[in-house]
Amino acid sequence: REANQQRMQAALDQVRGQLGRGYPLSIGGKPVETGAWIESVNPSHARQLVGQVAAAGPSHTLQAIETAKRAFDSWRDTDVEVRAEILRKAAAIIRQRRFELAAWITLESAKPWRESDGDVAEAIDFLEYYATGMERLAHSRHRNLPGEANETFYEPRGVAVVIAPWNFPLAILTGMVSAALVTGNTVIMKPAEQSPVIAALLQRILEEAGVPAGVVNYLPGVGEVIGPILVQHPDVALIAFTGSLGVGLAINKLAGETPQGQLHIKKVIAELGGKNAMIVDGDADLDEAVKGVVDSAFGFAGQKCSAGSRAIVLEPIYDRFVERLVEATKALTVAPADEPGCGVPPVIDAEARNRILKMIEVGKSEAKLAFGGDVGELANEGFYVAPHVFVDVPPNASLAQDEIFGPVLAVTKAANLDEALAIANGTRFALTGGIFSRSPQNIATVKRKFRVGNLYVNRKITGALVDRQPFGGFRLSGIGSKAGGPDYLLQFLLPRTITENTLRRG
Ligand code: NAD
Repeated sequence: REANQQRMQAALDQVRGQLGRGYPLSIGGKPVETGAWIESVNPSHARQLVGQVAAAGPSHTLQAIETAKRAFDSWRDTDVEVRAEILRKAAAIIRQRRFELAAWITLESAKPWRESDGDVAEAIDFLEYYATGMERLAHSRHRNLPGEANETFYEPRGVAVVIAPWNFPLAILTGMVSAALVTGNTVIMKPAEQSPVIAALLQRILEEAGVPAGVVNYLPGVGEVIGPILVQHPDVALIAFTGSLGVGLAINKLAGETPQGQLHIKKVIAELGGKNAMIVDGDADLDEAVKGVVDSAFGFAGQKCSAGSRAIVLEPIYDRFVERLVEATKALTVAPADEPGCGVPPVIDAEARNRILKMIEVGKSEAKLAFGGDVGELANEGFYVAPHVFVDVPPNASLAQDEIFGPVLAVTKAANLDEALAIANGTRFALTGGIFSRSPQNIATVKRKFRVGNLYVNRKITGALVDRQPFGGFRLSGIGSKAGGPDYLLQFLLPRTITENTLRRG
């Protein structure tokens, strides 16, 4: 671990020397300048420019769609093994540049380096897993009877638009892009405005790995400006989106109709937010539960879709739990993400900080603030928010219903397990959740009745591993596509069946 820490420090120094550069769009394998720029700054040190990327406008967006459409036929006809090999090559390049890419993530997204390293590892896993997954799906099924031949097989859908969030700037983007790519679709990659430099590096890695010109196009831009054009265009067959509930709902609606009013049924893969709860049973191991809740709530400043933003604690243990929780939260160090001792890094940008602080103010009128405050001098340095713990939070308060996406935890008391489950299930979301308990019977009940996509027992509720822990939720948390699982690639494909009367052959 220490050796890795040293390599990370060296990588951070190396990357600091490369900050401030400009990155053009990449359409059809060619760099395109647009005359407008999106600046990406380091949330830990807001005066530090990480880089600037060209901002695509409507005309570049149409050009990218046209380019991806023209590249489709030949990419669709490229052998699956060739497509899979390109993914494996990209994985190898990323593995070789592990520390450098993690350093870029730490500087652009303010992820503490160990989490940045996890982001890089997950990107590698997605590439390798989907490569193998597609090779498995490539064999068509035959069911023949005398006089009749049946063949069922998968085809790509066409032009895929990938719209990504900033919070797993390499992993989630790579996961969606590689799934679209290996299944034979051509891709327009629209990264989040807050993490476009990492996306530019991914584009270059894919090109180096052998992705032909026009098959992946890098199109950073302002979501509200170019998003609707991408989503509504009749030549776009599929949208893979990961992000907030509001934008996901808007995309889902927009995808059904062109601006001219032509109706569509388009494939929309949408993975959205959560209001994830951890139930702490009356007999839970307090040390484990406190540590699990604190890690889930405040890791990466609560900016993971899987973050635990609610703790529902059974009455017998409530007071002791709250006391220990506040102690553990007090001990966290708010610091720049590129400092080795960082416990809680800053949030992504000024807009996020202001939104979170506003929700904290509303929270003060809804429940009791047990711990929280300001960040002192750090406020002048970057977008820091101190961890906050609210207690005695009513289940219907906005603190307990709305995704805050920051270091804010709502603690609610429950009289018994049934009530805890009703509160836990009582939001619009169904992403992650957990239980800390020593009772096999209660654990079994929670497994059956706590309706979330990913449930964790006696451990923190964040963290998803490709293959072992396919990730994603349902209700307003998403469509249930389960990234990193065996069903994910199917969503990027069209199943087709051909039935032939063989008596008429030759
Ligand atoms: P966001 O919805 O603000 O932005 C996501 C992307 O959508 C960005 O690229 C943005 O430019 C684009 N966009 C914005 N407006 C658009 C529009 N009108 N049309 C088309 N695209 C538009 O989300 P974010 O802040 O980047 O990410 C955080 C959110 O993502 C949280 O809600 C989090 O829970 C969620 N998330 C979910 C998962 C999951 O797997 N379920 C994973 C990571 C993050």
